[in-house]
Amino acid sequence: MLNIVLFGAPGAGKGTQSDLLVEKFKLNHISTGDLLRKEIAEQTELGKKIKSIMDSGALVSNDIVIEMIDNAIAKDTQGILFDGFPRNVAQAEVLDQLMAKHNRSVTCMVQLDVPKDELVRRMLERAKVSGRSDDNEETIKNRLKTYEAETLPVAAYYEKQGKCVKINGLGKVEEISANIIAEVEKR
Ligand code: AMP
Repeated sequence: MLNIVLFGAPGAGKGTQSDLLVEKFKLNHISTGDLLRKEIAEQTELGKKIKSIMDSGALVSNDIVIEMIDNAIAKDTQGILFDGFPRNVAQAEVLDQLMAKHNRSVTCMVQLDVPKDELVRRMLERAKVSGRSDDNEETIKNRLKTYEAETLPVAAYYEKQGKCVKINGLGKVEEISANIIAEVEKR
């Protein structure tokens, strides 16, 4: 069963590529960002707790996202595309444990590589239409800082396991997805 971690900075194109990969490989799309935004939209207790954290550009606590992921893996029967998770090394370690518990493993981690100035440009562009309260200049800066400090080490974690596939995230959407698909099919 194919289980892919889609990895990249905010603005790297994870959302777009997720949709294409999910369609191609018939995977369950698990986006922790989407699951968290749903809690906020539904004004649940959890949603109220996490809104200000997300608006600041920081990460919400590991316990919260890990519980979501645990539930998602338990329910899944077709293979998963993880989008926006793991966001730090502790989450990556727990993901390996959770997968092992279900006799599964991460097949590979696809890293979308996009230079920082392009990331900022794309996010400011998206901010005009997304309606996301964390798509503003101040939060964008913080999200990139959080990415560099906490999330980037996750790439080294998968490199050590020989599971990291680096993909140039610049260019036409279809070309990028064709490159990803070719690499995933080798695994
Ligand atoms: P995203 O939609 O993936 O860009 O996530 C938006 C925000 O949700 C992030 O800036 C974090 O505050 C929070 N978030 C999403 N995924 C995670 C995660 N795996 N761990 C912690 N916080 C997360």
